[in-house]
Amino acid sequence: MTQEQTDVLIIGAGPAGAVAAGLLRKQGRQVLILEREQFPRFSIGESLLPQSMEFIEAAGMLQAVVEAGFQYKNGAAFACGEQHTQFDFRDKYSPGWGTTYQVQRARFDQVLAMQAARMGAEVRYRHEVLAVDVTGQRPRVEVRDQDGHTHGISANFLLDASGFGRVLPRLLDLEYPSAFPQRSALFTHVQDNIPAGSGFDRDKILITVHPQHCDVWYWTIPFSDGRCSQGVVARPEFLAQYPGCDTQRLRALVGEAPGLRRLLKESAWDTPARSITGYSANVKSLWGKGFALLGNAGEFLDPVFSSGVTIAFKSASLAANCLQRQAQGAPVDWESDYARPLQAGVNTFRVFVESWYAGGFQKVIFHAKSSPEIRRMIASILAGYVWDTGNPYVAEPRRRLSVLEQLCCG
Ligand code: FAD
Repeated sequence: MTQEQTDVLIIGAGPAGAVAAGLLRKQGRQVLILEREQFPRFSIGESLLPQSMEFIEAAGMLQAVVEAGFQYKNGAAFACGEQHTQFDFRDKYSPGWGTTYQVQRARFDQVLAMQAARMGAEVRYRHEVLAVDVTGQRPRVEVRDQDGHTHGISANFLLDASGFGRVLPRLLDLEYPSAFPQRSALFTHVQDNIPAGSGFDRDKILITVHPQHCDVWYWTIPFSDGRCSQGVVARPEFLAQYPGCDTQRLRALVGEAPGLRRLLKESAWDTPARSITGYSANVKSLWGKGFALLGNAGEFLDPVFSSGVTIAFKSASLAANCLQRQAQGAPVDWESDYARPLQAGVNTFRVFVESWYAGGFQKVIFHAKSSPEIRRMIASILAGYVWDTGNPYVAEPRRRLSVLEQLCCG
C-alpha cells in the first residue's frame, strides 16, 4: 500500500472541516481534506446564528459567503397557538454580529470548501476514510478514493470533522450516549408561495410549537429564492402514529398547527421529505494523542436553537488556535485549551434545550411582561453568544434560567 504524508489531515469538508482548513491555511499550515461525498451534496442545518459570522470572517471566508446571495437573517420568531414572540438579534446583550444567513447547505458547504481550496487547502472529494491508527508516532488513516483504491496517509495532526459520519468516535470506541432522549425530524424544501402581505418575516427563522404537545415543534426557514425548509421534530413513537410516506406524515403534522397550515396553504410540496432519527450524540473525549474531534463528530445536542454550525465553527477555531500554539512550541493541554472551553458554551445551550423540552423556556419567551434587558440577554443566547460570560445567563445558565422560569410561571 502506498504511504503519503501531510501536515494537518482533516476528515470531512463540512462547516467544521472547511473553516478549520481556512484558519490553518492562514497560519501557513499544509492542509489536506478528505471528503467522502462529491459536493454539492444535501445536508441539514440551514439556519445560522450571528456568532458564526465571527468564525467565517476569521477564516477568510466572509466575502465568499456574502457574495453567495443567501437569505439575510436577523432573528428568530416563535409561535404557539395565538401566542407569538420574536427576538431581533441586532438588539442583543453581547457585542458582535447581529445578523447572519439562512442557507441551502449544499451550496453553503460548497462555498466554504471552495474557499478553503482557494486558500491553498487540498480537498479530495469522493475520498472516504475507512480506518485510523493513532497508536504510532503520528496518526495514520486508510482512505478509499473514487476509483476504489485504498492507500495510507499519515499526518502530524488529525482533525475529525466527519459530522454524523462520526469516524473517530466509531473507530476508536469514543462513542458515549447523549443524555437527550431519542428524537426524529421530518423535513423537506417547499416552494412556499407565502404572500408578501401575510406578515411573515422572511428575515427570521420561525419556530412553531405544536398546539397540544409542547415537545413537538416545527421549523420554517425561508431561503432567498422563494423556497422554505420545513421540518418537524418529535419523539419517534409520536411520529409512528402518522401513516404514509415522510411527505404525508410531515404534511399531516403541519395540518395540526393552524398558524403554520395557513402560512403554507399555497405551498407547492415538490420535494420528497426525508427523515433523520437519533442525531443527538456525545463522546468520551474530544481529543487524544495527535487528534481532536470537531463539530458533530464530537457532541451534538439538538436542532431547536440552530446551534450546530456555530458550535462546529467554534470547535474549528479553538483547535486551530491550539495547533498554532503547539507549532510555536508553547505547551498545549487539549483538555483545558480545547475541550473545556468548547463545552462551556455547549453546556449553556444544553440548559436552554432541556428547558425548552420541559416547557419552561417556552413560558419565558412567550411571557408578556418580560424585561427588555432580560430579553436582550436571551437574544444573545439565541444568537449563539454562549461563550460570552459577561452575559449572566451564560455565566450561570441553570440558576438564572430557573429563577426566570419561576417568575414567568408564577
Ligand atoms: P457535517 O456538516 O455533517 O459535515 C461532515 C462531512 O464529513 C460531510 O460532508 C461528510 O460527507 C463527511 N464525511 C463523513 N464521513 C466521512 C468519511 N468516512 N470520510 C470522509 N468524509 C466523511 N445546525 C445549525 O447550525 N442550524 C440549523 O438550523 C440546524 N438544523 C438542524 C436540523 C436537524 C434535524 C439536525 C439533525 C441538525 C441540525 N443542525 C443545525 C446541526 C447541523 O446539521 C450540524 O451541526 C452541522 O452540519 C455540523 O457540521 P460538521 O462540519 O461538524 O459536520
